[in-house]
Amino acid sequence: MNNVMRAEAVVDLGALQQNLRSLRARVGSAEVMSVVKADAYGHGALPVARAALAAGTRWLGVAKPEEALALRAGGIAPEQARILCWLWTPAAPWAECVAADVDITVSGVWALGRVAEAVRAAGRPARVQLKADTGLGRNGAQPHDWPELVSAARRLEREGLIRVTGLWSHFACADEPGHPSIQAQLDAFHEALRVAEAAGVQPEVRHMANSPATLTLPEAHFDLVRAGIAQYGLSPSPELGTPADFGLRPVMTLQAPVASVKTVPAGHGVSYGHTYVTPGRTTLALVPLGYADGIPRHASSTGPVLLGGKWRTIAGRVAMDQFVLDLGGDAAEVGEAAILFGPGDQGEPTAEDWARACGTISYEIVTRIGGRVPRRYVEA
Ligand SMILES: *Cc1c(COP(=O)(O)O)cnc(C)c1O
Repeated sequence: MNNVMRAEAVVDLGALQQNLRSLRARVGSAEVMSVVKADAYGHGALPVARAALAAGTRWLGVAKPEEALALRAGGIAPEQARILCWLWTPAAPWAECVAADVDITVSGVWALGRVAEAVRAAGRPARVQLKADTGLGRNGAQPHDWPELVSAARRLEREGLIRVTGLWSHFACADEPGHPSIQAQLDAFHEALRVAEAAGVQPEVRHMANSPATLTLPEAHFDLVRAGIAQYGLSPSPELGTPADFGLRPVMTLQAPVASVKTVPAGHGVSYGHTYVTPGRTTLALVPLGYADGIPRHASSTGPVLLGGKWRTIAGRVAMDQFVLDLGGDAAEVGEAAILFGPGDQGEPTAEDWARACGTISYEIVTRIGGRVPRRYVEA
């Protein structure tokens, strides 16, 4: 019998490295940034970053300054990896990030002011990457603000306070090939590059592609692609293809030992609210993972789990710490493995199956797996 010791997320770093190699083979002379924001989409930022660097990656990407500092504090030295960070607010640890040699993304002139102060505090110049809003409507400078941002950055560069290391932007609909916004964003990015380069900016890297653009849009590869979900072996969208279609293998397996098995009569309510009532005499298995562990409460009565060689469906509500499976009278033993999702090759559901069941995307399924779930790293 397939027993497991504890509820855990098994993270296959060998698969992660293989996924990065597969992505690299796709992008020619461009480099692949390993995006490790949000604790590496729930996989563990430091172990993932170390594995990515061992596989030849030179760039790491994070959203928040604290994430960048945590990587440096965890021993990822500036000689080993550049770290690009893209979501800043006025009270962020600007000076600490300059001191830690983080590439700071700037989308507005106000942020250049914070960088200049941080440079004085840190006593060393900053690396800055300018971000253009080419149509996503999130962060980045609008085309009419871009020339002013570029010239303000060039002034600081001439004063020796900063070096503009990159120019970049982000897609809105790269997961829908042929969407008209894609070409419009590419055109807008080329125009932003032209304006910046005419003003004397000499970026080390120009970049625009996330995973879907990395997989489907060679004209968006430029010098660097920012790969998030694809390096974790998941497809950016089921419409684009399966992970295997892109040479990718899911990195995370979520499993737990069954904590209780018992026989109950027909008509027995299961879990809070009795939203599920046993249709006949049956066996119930209790799985020690709940919404505090990141199992969506939306998986109530719908999330799929492999137990005893069959897919079962969660019976009734997902609780904070646990949920129940109706085994339809089949036997099971305490300690036996319930596999929620994984690569799929033992017949288990995938994160994509969970996304479909819960009306969300696989990104959210893996990223929400919480801090209470231990990660076990393997190189299978
Ligand atoms: C999260 C993020 C990425 C990675 O996106 P994926 O679709 O997971 O590859 C790339 N760039 C930016 C700016 C992001 O916020």
